[in-house]
Amino acid sequence: MKKILVCGAGGFIGHHLVKRLKSEGSFVIGVDLKYPEFNQTAADKFVIGDLRMPETWQKLECDGFDEMYQLAADMGGAGYLFSGKYDADILHNSAMINLYACEYAARWKMGKVFYASSACVYPVENQEDPNNPNCKEDSVYPAHPDSDYGFEKLFSERVYQAFSREYGIKAKIARFHGIFGPEGTYTGGKEKAPAAIARKVAEAPDGGTIEIWGDGKQTRSFLYVDQCVEAVMRLMASQDFDGPVNIGSEEMVSINQLAEITMEIAGKKLSIKHIEGPLGVRGRNSDNTLIRQKLGWAPDAPLKDGMKKTYDWVVNQLSSQKVKTAEGSKTAV
Ligand code: NAD
Repeated sequence: MKKILVCGAGGFIGHHLVKRLKSEGSFVIGVDLKYPEFNQTAADKFVIGDLRMPETWQKLECDGFDEMYQLAADMGGAGYLFSGKYDADILHNSAMINLYACEYAARWKMGKVFYASSACVYPVENQEDPNNPNCKEDSVYPAHPDSDYGFEKLFSERVYQAFSREYGIKAKIARFHGIFGPEGTYTGGKEKAPAAIARKVAEAPDGGTIEIWGDGKQTRSFLYVDQCVEAVMRLMASQDFDGPVNIGSEEMVSINQLAEITMEIAGKKLSIKHIEGPLGVRGRNSDNTLIRQKLGWAPDAPLKDGMKKTYDWVVNQLSSQKVKTAEGSKTAV
């Protein structure tokens, strides 16, 4: 039985990853500042702790574990990452986590270490044309990410690579592109485009209006969370390939198109009102040439399928929220 530590196990991808690791029979310890928000963790043991603090790492005692997955980060959607208001926290918090992660992985002689980097590492100049962005892995230098979040990810990639060379931690690095799905944040300011649009469409009455930041012509690709986890598992299983590698979809859509797809799923006709808001780069798409070649992986379902599952889940969440509010007001009376 493999012994595995998942950092960020209370987060969206970490929670799904723990489920998958458990389904394969591993012993899993999860650690996070918080428990998963929408469901119980599948982990054998869940430690609530702050990974910026050495005391948390000391308590974990993962000596001789087979694998560690490091997904903890100070993270959010465009409204959080690109507003320019939280850069100091993002840089400080995530860098601290990753520095300790490498130090403890080396001390524990961890077999393999997975690090969740991001498409946000790619240079802004390569993502100005919404129809033709370049996110090939080797286009990342000279470095010029559009956010401090991207700079921290790139810095931390280098920390994992240096520790691999000098302390033998065997790090494997993936750059995620727009991962989405059920049980992810869908409200409150840290949600990303697919969940935010699913919520807006679900809340709008048929014939109503939803708001979208910018002109909606900015392009992105989105990958369903189960497909992301599958790609991570393949990267970790690979004997001779460590990345960095893109894990994303090549099905690029504009944000307006994403809204249209969601309206079709919901069976609603809505108008889109474009408003000012933080946007990020003009165009971004995963380039899967390398991952196809090295791991034989590609997404096995279109965006619309994942959006349908996400939309249905958000609708469910909103209606159970309503029931809770109604019950709360009855109690208050
Ligand atoms: P998430 O915010 O849901 O999960 C991150 C988790 O880290 C949260 O549960 C949070 O509580 C935890 N965390 C933050 N600071 C911590 C600390 N000091 N100590 C302990 N835990 C702490 O994000 P996610 O979408 O699941 O993303 C997982 C990883 O993948 C992150 O590193 C993120 O940067 C990366 N990533 C995600 C996407 C995406 O589209 N979701 C895209 C690119 C990269």
